[in-house]
Amino acid sequence: MKSPQTDAPRFESLFGQPPKVQVRAPGRVNLIGEHTDYNGGFVLPMAIPQHTEVHLSPREGRTVRAFSANLGAQGQVNEYELGQEKRGRGWLDYVQGVTHVLRAEGHTPGGFDLWLSSDVPVGSGLSSSAALEVALLRGLREAFGLSLDDVRIALLGQKVECDFVGAPVGVMDQMASSLADTGAALFLDTRSLKYERVPLPTQVEPIVINSGVTHSHSGGDYRVRRAECERAAKLLGVEQLRDLPDAELPRALALPEPLGRRVRHVLTENARVLQTVRALREGDLAALGPLLYASHASQRDDYEVSVPEIDLLVELGRAEPDVLGARLTGGGFGGSVVMLARTGTGASAASRIATQYAEKSHHQATVLVPEPSSGR
Ligand code: ADP
Ligand code: MG
Repeated sequence: MKSPQTDAPRFESLFGQPPKVQVRAPGRVNLIGEHTDYNGGFVLPMAIPQHTEVHLSPREGRTVRAFSANLGAQGQVNEYELGQEKRGRGWLDYVQGVTHVLRAEGHTPGGFDLWLSSDVPVGSGLSSSAALEVALLRGLREAFGLSLDDVRIALLGQKVECDFVGAPVGVMDQMASSLADTGAALFLDTRSLKYERVPLPTQVEPIVINSGVTHSHSGGDYRVRRAECERAAKLLGVEQLRDLPDAELPRALALPEPLGRRVRHVLTENARVLQTVRALREGDLAALGPLLYASHASQRDDYEVSVPEIDLLVELGRAEPDVLGARLTGGGFGGSVVMLARTGTGASAASRIATQYAEKSHHQATVLVPEPSSGR
């Protein structure tokens, strides 16, 4: 699936009148705290400027008609009846999932016409799925006066993926899309859902580069990692790995391969989130870079969710004098990298990295942050 196609029809030409509601929700980049959310741990995401836009109008009856501009001129208006949602219709499952979980929770929107469009790259670790869910839930809240706060919207979005789409994700993506903004990181305890906004020090700015290697969350690898964590927790006698004290790590390392290394990633990653929050608050730039690189090494070696193209991007970042640190962001198996650079240097460093990446790999990288200024 591509970026929004300029040749794709707009809401009005599809449905015969302008939309009643127009809302949006951003994609997200996780600064640090990967694969910790489904273990009850800490995460530190930020919103990215790219977002999903929803145009929507209520209609008589119980029919939903939905169109995604990302499918271009060949895209079709898909239809289903509320109450008859059936999994297995590709991207429409995310829309059907939203109305399905709303009803399960006692909310009753009527039929509607929906047009959506996104410049969040799909399957690139930047959470186009959460952006879609949160944007649609915001649109339905406004159109039908549903009583939903932003945390509720995030939890419903997570339910869409877990209960309907069949991707057992944690809550980070939807919390970030619903609550984070681009200027500050959202320090979130995924167990209590307590969160706090932590601004980046003025001396640093984020870089986000999409490797062009896509993943699929509903695919097997993410599911396998999650199952490994659940198995390790069970063997270690804790409800979630969040509950395992650091002193118990030697016991975890005695578990059958690869469970010990999976546990080590989760425990050390949780600690790195806390250390990163402290470094951001104190403006301790020297501490930030090593934390990001250590997180990457842990994802690559202990959690085994990186791929050579992502490792290459991280190493290209390391060669840049003004890049403080770099790591794989998102679920992995492809996707994107996040870096922190000295403010004012991010755009040129990112463009050099993308050029070298194209020469050294068979893929094309896309710089998403800092936003390319031309044509915007
Ligand atoms: P990501 O990391 O981007 O969230 P996922 O695999 O979780 O990757 O979700 C990607 C899926 O979400 C797509 O395959 C598609 O089904 C759906 N999706 C996301 N954005 C859109 C969009 N703008 N139009 C249609 N479907 C979308
Ligand atoms: Mg997703």
